[in-house]
Amino acid sequence: MTPQERTQIKTKIIEEIAHLHKQIKALEAITQPIAPDCSLGRLTRVEAMNEKAVNDRILDESRLKLKRLESAMHRVDREDFGICIDCEEDIAIGRLMIRPESVRCIACATQFQKGK
Ligand SMILES: [Zn+2]
Repeated sequence: MTPQERTQIKTKIIEEIAHLHKQIKALEAITQPIAPDCSLGRLTRVEAMNEKAVNDRILDESRLKLKRLESAMHRVDREDFGICIDCEEDIAIGRLMIRPESVRCIACATQFQKGK
């Protein structure tokens, strides 16, 4: 990895963290518990609960991604950043640009997903 690539990845991490902070804040605002006595009609209430379930899931995923990105931010200047934790080969730079929080190369990530 060249110093320029590392800087690019770092910029990407900072951008994504800022974006996620905003997204999480917005999601937290719309995923407040739905009051049982709210004046919505029954159908609207079911819809509201379904929507809340979807948003809750996105919120969980966003928080998890934020944690991973913050961890990537701590590791980005280290020598072993961008090295797969399983096979210890370099993770493709293209993959790191898209998912800077990646800790595995594509092959090992695929293997890991299958094992779950
Ligand atoms: Zn690997």
